[in-house]
Amino acid sequence: AINEMTLSFISRSANEGFARAAVASFFVQLDPTVEEMSDIKTAISEAVTNAIVHGYRDNLGKVQIHARIYPDNRIYIRVKDQGCGIPDVEKAMEPLYTTCTTGERAGLGFAVMQSFMDKVRVRSSPGKGTTVILTK
Ligand code: ATP
Ligand code: MG
Repeated sequence: AINEMTLSFISRSANEGFARAAVASFFVQLDPTVEEMSDIKTAISEAVTNAIVHGYRDNLGKVQIHARIYPDNRIYIRVKDQGCGIPDVEKAMEPLYTTCTTGERAGLGFAVMQSFMDKVRVRSSPGKGTTVILTK
């Protein structure tokens, strides 16, 4: 049968590490290799960081993560924010595209998610928020 969990936290940057570790520990039951676990953690980290730094910017809001393990051991991770949203998702997902103007960000978060997971789906509406679904 399916197993699933939901985690909700405030978009403080201090919670990024908490979320990554909490979701990773949910997947420990799959007995992943160190490399598999590292890939999952990296992808979650990129999605959560985006929710915190882009979705909410200087504001605080809720980030929700829903994770599932399917009977065939496939995994599903949904990271949802109710922040500013993305006007053009296709463009935002292009490697090296970033709206950050300080030079701190490389614009590689979505590319990293895509390389470490099988599939990345993004739904977003400006003013309403963004949902990123990662599967493997
Ligand atoms: P990096 O991830 O390399 O630090 P980045 O965050 O700018 O840089 P991506 O993660 O690929 O790069 O995201 C690309 C762009 O998509 C961001 O610059 C931002 O404009 C937009 N974006 C991504 N996630 C969200 C989100 N949750 N809410 C609003 N905008 C987002
Ligand atoms: Mg990013």
